[in-house]
Amino acid sequence: MNIHQSTRTYAQQQDQTDPLRTFREQFLIPEKDGQPQLYFCGNSLGLQPKSAREAIEREMNVWQNHGVEGWFEGDQPWLYYHKYCKETLAEIVGAKPSEVCPMNNLTVNLHLMLTSFYQPKGDRTRILTVAGDFPSDQYALETHVRSRGLDPSEVILAVKPQEGEYTLQTEAILNAIRENERSLALVMMSGLHYYTGQVFNMKAIAAEAQKWGIRVGFDLAHAAGNAPLHLHDWGVDFAVWCSYKYLNSGPGGVSGSFVHEKNHDANLPRLAGWWGYDEDRRFEMTPGFVPMPGADGWQLSTPTILALAVHRASLAIFAEAGMRNLRNKSVKLTGYLEFLLKGINGEFDNPITIMTPTEPEARGCQLSLLVRKDGKKLFDDLTQNQIIGDWREPNCIRLAPTPLYNTFEEVWQVGEVIREFYQ
Ligand SMILES: *Cc1c(COP(=O)(O)O)cnc(C)c1O
Repeated sequence: MNIHQSTRTYAQQQDQTDPLRTFREQFLIPEKDGQPQLYFCGNSLGLQPKSAREAIEREMNVWQNHGVEGWFEGDQPWLYYHKYCKETLAEIVGAKPSEVCPMNNLTVNLHLMLTSFYQPKGDRTRILTVAGDFPSDQYALETHVRSRGLDPSEVILAVKPQEGEYTLQTEAILNAIRENERSLALVMMSGLHYYTGQVFNMKAIAAEAQKWGIRVGFDLAHAAGNAPLHLHDWGVDFAVWCSYKYLNSGPGGVSGSFVHEKNHDANLPRLAGWWGYDEDRRFEMTPGFVPMPGADGWQLSTPTILALAVHRASLAIFAEAGMRNLRNKSVKLTGYLEFLLKGINGEFDNPITIMTPTEPEARGCQLSLLVRKDGKKLFDDLTQNQIIGDWREPNCIRLAPTPLYNTFEEVWQVGEVIREFYQ
């Protein structure tokens, strides 16, 4: 299937006809020795939007000029700051604005959601997840289960890939749900696996879980702003994500939560704080927790306005570009990287195994490469050539061409450096 060509001219042509080509100008590209780097690490920390500094500056000025009145005064009072992010966040994850709220940080939000949605009762105590999920999620599940007086080794059921495979078949996950439907209280897993780059079939997983009355939640750290999401329509109970990866909202920036509308009036158990209290009465400071309707009711603390300001500035770029357009470019850009790697494999006796699935529906922008030999040498060679990827011991290189700021020409350059390495 020769849809692409491995020439610089071809890559440049793709950039010239790319409807999103100007968005790169909205970002600060890290430089080394006066040269812009080829940044393929948006899966770990997205680049800084040029508008971020100004957004912080604005709130610094409000603080300087109004002090505490900044919470209530001006055209964008801090009190409602989370609301300024809702519409775009809802679009990104496929939700209603009332179902999403930027808040806290990811692992914190995961614990908060587990408190509400993990309700072991009788025989139904188990949690189904995927093997090798991100460590923080594993630790969260393990300790959360323990905090309920249960034994993680009995309760947590991790679905593994079949012998000799790197990724999971959807059917294996669905079967595991079916086979354990009586003992499962919750399905909780990544929507996009951080290591392999696989996007799980969340729609099918949510449908299967719901069929048996099992709740389902996803960690979308690698999926938000990257893969198509329709959380509301899929009937997902809850989701959490961070904003510093594809959402470009700065290191440790504010994270997000989704709570499906069907759960808003369910009077679920929760760990509450005053920022989740009914906004109109929050400052009455009366006892007895009255939650805000929707996802907002899971907020705990006074939000970090400076982090929200950056988040909002970054989300504005997503609103302008549109998730559908971003995804269209992403499929092409990652497809081009895959095409070049396959060419290299053909030329040099398959030195690289692409762990990430080939079907666009089963991946986001990241490709995870297993390098048969001298993986670290190849990675160092990429770094020397100003290509920033991500290295995982013992032999994995992850590269994430992101549609907002990476170009086809950069992808071509990556291919050239790898080809020359094997020559
Ligand atoms: C990046 C990532 C995290 C990080 O969690 P923080 O609480 O933001 O540090 C957790 N889970 C997954 C799946 C991730 O990809």
